[in-house]
Amino acid sequence: MTTVHSAPVAAPGASVPALPPAHALARESTALRRRNRWATAALAVVGLLGGVVLGLALQEVWPVSGEPADIAWAVSVLAAVVGTYGVLVLLLLIARLPVLERAIGQDRLVIAHKQLAPWAMGLVAVHVVLVVVAYAGFAGTGVLAEFWSQLTTTPWILPATAGLVLMVTAAVSSWRRLRRRLRHETWWTVHLYTYLAIALAFAHQLTGPFLDGWARALWIALYVAVSGAILWFRVAVPLWRSWRHGLRVAAVVRETPNVVSVVLRGRDLHRLHVEPGQFLNWRFLTPGLVYESHPYSVSGLPRTDLLRITVKALGDSSAALANLRVGTRVLVEGPYGAVTPGLVRGPRAVLVAGGVGVAPVRALAEAFAGRVRTDVIYRASTPADLALADELRGLESFPGTRVHLLPGSRHDLPLDVEHLRSLVGDLSDADVFACGPESLNHRVAESARSLGVRPERIHWEEFDL
Ligand SMILES: Cc1cc2nc3c(=O)[nH]c(=O)nc-3n(C[C@H](O)[C@H](O)[C@H](O)COP(=O)(O)OP(=O)(O)OC[C@H]3O[C@@H](n4cnc5c(N)ncnc54)[C@H](O)[C@@H]3O)c2cc1C
Repeated sequence: MTTVHSAPVAAPGASVPALPPAHALARESTALRRRNRWATAALAVVGLLGGVVLGLALQEVWPVSGEPADIAWAVSVLAAVVGTYGVLVLLLLIARLPVLERAIGQDRLVIAHKQLAPWAMGLVAVHVVLVVVAYAGFAGTGVLAEFWSQLTTTPWILPATAGLVLMVTAAVSSWRRLRRRLRHETWWTVHLYTYLAIALAFAHQLTGPFLDGWARALWIALYVAVSGAILWFRVAVPLWRSWRHGLRVAAVVRETPNVVSVVLRGRDLHRLHVEPGQFLNWRFLTPGLVYESHPYSVSGLPRTDLLRITVKALGDSSAALANLRVGTRVLVEGPYGAVTPGLVRGPRAVLVAGGVGVAPVRALAEAFAGRVRTDVIYRASTPADLALADELRGLESFPGTRVHLLPGSRHDLPLDVEHLRSLVGDLSDADVFACGPESLNHRVAESARSLGVRPERIHWEEFDL
């Protein structure tokens, strides 16, 4: 069942970029540490600018009298400033900034985005409520009457309120229970409207009476910088890369009853700098798929002219990849992902794959084989579900590489402490990589910690964002 394409993607050959065996991992680790320093510096700048913005707002509202309306007004301004800055930070986290993507990883950035979102939205909502309360206090009218008056007479209040509604809708659509019921495309479209919402909020902020001088210039610069970063890294760079590398489908290979590999051919793919363990967002330019972009990890060491992904049919779009025609053009965004070989800090790597998590593990295993002692543990429901198994077994020809193929149920193969110990023994000198469903990743991380692996040496990529 396993692919005829395993050899071209995996084996060394004329067009394979040479992998210097001796120093490669050390060099990758050094590059990673450098990237971490840049990411820390970038986050420090974000923190510093936040401090400046808050300082300017404090200057605006200070001194505050003891009058309730005055206090409500001051708090509403501060809530607006911190909340709006938070919204810009939310956008920055998903702007695909290379400095953050490579050091932190898209999954962690998306998690941070999700965790920060309710706070930022909450502060904007507090602003709306308190500003109405304050003005009602100043005018001596009721809160609802004041709200209606603001909505109908003050310029940009109505659009800003509509923007807040759009933002809250996006936040609610991300609520885990609701998100599971929504199609990914519906959720994504709702999120697209938040850009409109933020533009409306910006117009309201600029036309408001309190933003002048340095504060005004700084806010304009912040909006320009964030929207520029989004347009550059999420639109311009992907379009340029897709055009530059001219990727097309070269072959589709069935691996198991519900998993296929798609081999893609393109120009100068080494310049895409894809590392094992990374993923790209793929848009196949064929009817039915052109409006969707999905993340899939590379499942072999990238070559100068070939890349490969291995995909499980989970929904309409992933199932449709089995019917792709050779020659179909592909747009890509990426590469993304921070779970790469440079994370290894010792003489040993243990890779654990569950289901289609085998895709990045296959690529990582090849990067490690022969360079550090490597154990690959791969669990799938039945023997027929073990995709890429022959390729993994082939890696055992490298000294120090062992492959444990585990077909069976989660119940029989729990990957708990005892089970993991029985497979790979003492783990204190290992880096552990887990790629699979959230439950498997967390179970492996927990077991590895109990077996003495330090938390910073346990790595995983969330597939379920
Ligand atoms: C970083 C990362 C790497 C991945 N690598 C692989 C891989 O190598 N092989 C593989 O088979 N699968 C991989 N996946 C999962 C894969 O992206 C989804 O299975 C696929 O997008 C499902 O699309 P669908 O329309 O067929 O299914 P749907 O029924 O639309 O969705 C099934 C599940 O996939 C999620 N999903 C759908 N579209 C996206 C999207 N654009 N972005 C994020 N999640 C989405 C949905 O929220 C849902 O949980 C990866 C996911 C992530 C986040």
